[in-house]
This record gives sequence, structure tokens and C-alpha cells, in this order.
Amino acid sequence: MTLSKYRQKRHFQRTPEPRGAVSKRLGRSFTVQKHAASHLHYDFRLEIDGVLKSWAVPKGPSLDPSVKRLAVHVEDHPLEYGSFEGTIPAGEYGGGTVMLWDRGQWEPIGDAKTGYREGKLKFKLHGDKLRGRWILIQSGSSRSTDERNWLLRKEQDEEARSSANYDILEAESVSVKTGRDLDAIAANKKSRRRDQSPKVHPVPVAERVLRRSKTSPTALPTRVEVQLATLAREAPTGKQWLHEIKFDGYRMICRIQNEEVSFVTRNHHRLDGAVA
Ligand code: MN
Repeated sequence: MTLSKYRQKRHFQRTPEPRGAVSKRLGRSFTVQKHAASHLHYDFRLEIDGVLKSWAVPKGPSLDPSVKRLAVHVEDHPLEYGSFEGTIPAGEYGGGTVMLWDRGQWEPIGDAKTGYREGKLKFKLHGDKLRGRWILIQSGSSRSTDERNWLLRKEQDEEARSSANYDILEAESVSVKTGRDLDAIAANKKSRRRDQSPKVHPVPVAERVLRRSKTSPTALPTRVEVQLATLAREAPTGKQWLHEIKFDGYRMICRIQNEEVSFVTRNHHRLDGAVA
């Protein structure tokens, strides 16, 4: 297992793609990247033996079991590629915009290595968009290593949908990582970074509260102010900080006292309607 072909094709001084390394972990991640290169295609990648086995699917996956999609086997990619979203500069290999379209875990049906070697790989996907049973099968009679054409097809199960009334590529067209479409990714110069981490909202540790909790128990305060996050470009460093991803929604405090449970918002409204 090697990434030499992957590395030969790329200039890592010029492309934001990761150089990466073969991993020793025994994971089963998968990723699908929508890639607006000279021709739009979807790169379908399954983690096998520490790399991402990769197929370029010109028409993208279909949930319709009667639709077989050409999947051209391409060079192995490093696992680090599985979180890549951004723009490969024009003139570089694969120049164009890459969107992280789907990601998740895959589960082989039968032995994955044998299936891969024999050109018939059956598996289940547990992604945000793609789920259920799928098959990748080498096309034609040739079984030589030069045989690069495979077919990707959905198998019949409760996740299958007829192409007559549903096209997942249209219905689910934006990034699973950032919610952006291709134009927004292409327009954002910051997306040339290797990895667009989720927005980080630093939250200071309430040190005095932590210190006090190590001594004798005290009465639960009747009113607790929630910590408010501040948007920052870089996450601050140092042991006085904890970092958490800020998900959209309501921040609330759950109070459990005298066998009564209440939920209180940052403005001290009880979510059950009573006044805190
Ligand atoms: Mn590609």
C-alpha cells in the first residue's frame, strides 16, 4: 500500500491538498467529494488498509438500484483527504473546487480485502446522505490490475429511491461539512486551507467555580449565568481555555434540585413556561 502515485501527481507547495501518510489504524471511514475539475465528478472513497481506495464517478451516485454508475478506479488517497474541502489551483492536478459532499462509516458485507481483490465489493454505508447497501463491481471480463472501470450501484433496500422521483445529487447538493455550495467554496479564499475546521467559539473556564467544587459542597446558586461565546478567528491557546464547537440552537441550563428538573434559558426563562 503506497501513496507514491498520489504524491507524484501533486505539488504540495502549490495545492492545499494534504500530503498525508499511510495510516496504521483499522478504520472504515468513507467520503464522497464533489469535484468541479475539468469535468464535474464525484470521488467515492473507502478506507481500506490505511488509505482511501478511490473511484471517480462521473455522474455521481444514484439511489436507484436500476442505475449503474461508471466508477473509474483512481490512485489511493491518504486518510487526511477525507476531510479536505477547498480549491485546487488551476493548472495543478485536479485543479478546481472540491466539496465534501458526504462522509461516514462503511461496513463490508463479507470480507472486504477479498471482495476488493476479486472486483466485487459489497458494503453498507452509514453516511449523512448515502445509506444502506451498495455494490462496487469491476466491469468487463478482465480481472487484471489495469482494469480500471468499475460500476457503482445501489442495492435494493429501504434506502433505495427511484430515480423517476428523486435525485439525491439535486436534493442534497451542498457540503456536509460547511453547508456551502461549490460557488461559495470557490469564492472563499480561506477555503484553500487544508481543513476548514468548524467555527471555534472560545469559552473561558470558570476557574473559581472549579476550585470551589473541590472543597466542601455548597448550596446550589439560585441563578446561574450561562457563559457566552465570542466569535474569534483563531482559537486562543493555554490551559485556561476549554474549546467546544458552538452548535446553533438554544443554550440552556438543566437544574436538578429536590427531585425537580427544570430547564432555564440564558435569559432565565424556564422552558416549561414558569419564571425562573
Ligand atoms: Mn477528483
